[in-house]
This record gives sequence, structure tokens and C-alpha cells, in this order.
Amino acid sequence: MKPFQYVRPTRLKDAIEAVASDPNARYIAGGTNLIDLMKRGIDSSEKLVDINGLPLKKIEKRNGFLRIGALALNSQVAQHKLVLENHPLLAQALNAGASGQLRNMATVGGNILQRTRCPYFYDPVFPCNKRKPGAGCGALEGINRTHAIFGVSKNDPTQSCIAVHPSDFCVALSALDATVVAVGIQGERRIPFSNFHRLPENRPDLDTNLEKGELIVAVEIPDAVFTKHIHYLKIRDRASYAFALVSVATALDLENNRIKSARLALGGVAHKPWRLLEVEKSLVGQPVSEATFRKAAELAMQGAKAFEHNTYKLTLTPNAIIQALKNAVALV
Ligand code: SF4
Repeated sequence: MKPFQYVRPTRLKDAIEAVASDPNARYIAGGTNLIDLMKRGIDSSEKLVDINGLPLKKIEKRNGFLRIGALALNSQVAQHKLVLENHPLLAQALNAGASGQLRNMATVGGNILQRTRCPYFYDPVFPCNKRKPGAGCGALEGINRTHAIFGVSKNDPTQSCIAVHPSDFCVALSALDATVVAVGIQGERRIPFSNFHRLPENRPDLDTNLEKGELIVAVEIPDAVFTKHIHYLKIRDRASYAFALVSVATALDLENNRIKSARLALGGVAHKPWRLLEVEKSLVGQPVSEATFRKAAELAMQGAKAFEHNTYKLTLTPNAIIQALKNAVALV
């Protein structure tokens, strides 16, 4: 591990200036992903700006939305009364992620910013366009069992990336139309969750649309009616402490056994949480039935493309969508 400088500012302005003014500086909070990256030499930051002294832990209800501070711990959010009352889907997704110990360390901001767990990204022996732009992609011709089936870039091997986003929480935030609040040198801005993470396109090294020095200070989730018919389904290789092969965040509002509104997002299938807006629209007005859910799953799979080892996701994903929708309405 490379030696690094460590500072712990107590004012937001000082933290932002420290990172914005130094190309080799980075924020650290729980450190559950960053420290691993530094130990393996994948992240070679020379200065860590510890933000744990900043007042960003609050979870509060404001007019029209729930605001969760970036330093709230994953475990605190998952158990918080306001979260359970207003957006229980978030709690389900958080509890499906990582382990109890990690959830006690990891923060909301860090969860949103965690990097892919593509094994080739973590092993410097292999080429990786995300780690070193232009180097190539070890996963394209390698073991790509856990990789993406939507939104991949693969036409030019020097720009390809078929990695998936690892967070469960982000899949639920995407389904619930959250907004990321970030502060940088230029001030505060609100980024709709759908524009926060990026598809790889020609810059697989970039995971998000944050500017250098911008710090996530909170995430805001608009008030919604999705408290009853919700389900976060995570399919993984073992029962806990494993990343999603496929996950589905679903929330439905029902009236007279018909769907009034729907939210659906997938995890484990793309470089960012994969929101299914067209599928959501198609569900409105439909009766609650297995046939409705099957049609929705079929539509969701349009445009999916598999690689050598992840063709199973072409079957697993629609089945997971159907099952998540059934679970949300307790349809057996
Ligand atoms: Fe790197 Fe992306 Fe290829 Fe994985 S899939 S090796 S992260 S470029």
C-alpha cells in the first residue's frame, strides 16, 4: 500500500477544497471499498480526506421527500423508523447487501459510489479499461459469468466494459426516483438518480457523472405510495455476503386488483442500476396476474445480450422479475 496523507476537516467547505484542488486526493468515509482498492494498488490516492467529522448523518422527513444524509450508516438507514414507514423497499435492499459488519461501517454516500466487483478490475495482472483506459478488457474473453447483459460497450476492445454495478441500495433508489444532492466548488446541485451513474460508453473508467471534488451530501427520495406492495429480490451464489447475479426492486400501487402505478429496476445486469421505465408504463391498468407479469418480463428483456458465460441471465432475469412482482402482491 502506498503511503498517503490523511486529513479530517470539520467544515464542508474545507473538505471540498481539499479534494477539488488536488488531483490525487479522495474522500473517505466508511472505507469499506476504498481501502481494499488501495491495498491492491488499484487506487493510488496520495491524500485521503476523511469526511466523518462533517454533519451529514441526519435522516429526516422534509416537505415532499425523505432526506438521508450521506454519512448515515447502511445499518442505521435499514432500521430507521422513517425509512421503514415511507420507503421500506430501501430497507429490504440494504439488508440484502454485504454483511452485518459491513453495513455497520458503510455509509449511504459510499454505497452509492462503490466500484464494480469485476474480478479483472481487482487483479492488475489482467487488462482492464476501467482501471487503465485503453488497456483492454479481461472479462470480454475471460470468465464473464457475473457480467452485464444490458447497456454494454464492446465494439472497440480498448474501450469495452461489461462490468455490473454492485449496489443493492442503488437499485431501490433508482426504482424510487431518488435524487443525489452533491456539493462542489460551484455550489450544490441535485442529480436525478437515473443520471448519476453512467453506462461505460467510451469512458468505462468513469462510474458516475460527479465532477472532481463534488461530495455527495444526501440522497432525497420523493414521497410515494409504495409502502405495501414492494419487494427486493436478490439472486446470488450464496445466501448472504454475495453480490447479486440478478436483483429486482419492485413497487406497485394497486386499486381493485389492477395496477395503478409501478416501479421496476434491475441490479447485476448493467453498469448502472437498470430502470425499466417502458415496462412500468406497460403495467399501468393491467390486472394483477401471472400473465401480466410474464408479459412485463418479456418486454424487460428486449435488447439483452449475453456473453459466453452469462447466458443463464437471459433466463434468470425474466424469471426473477416475475417472482419479484408475484412476491410484491403475495401472488402464489
Ligand atoms: Fe475492466 Fe470493465 Fe472489463 Fe471488468 S468488464 S475487466 S471492469 S473493463
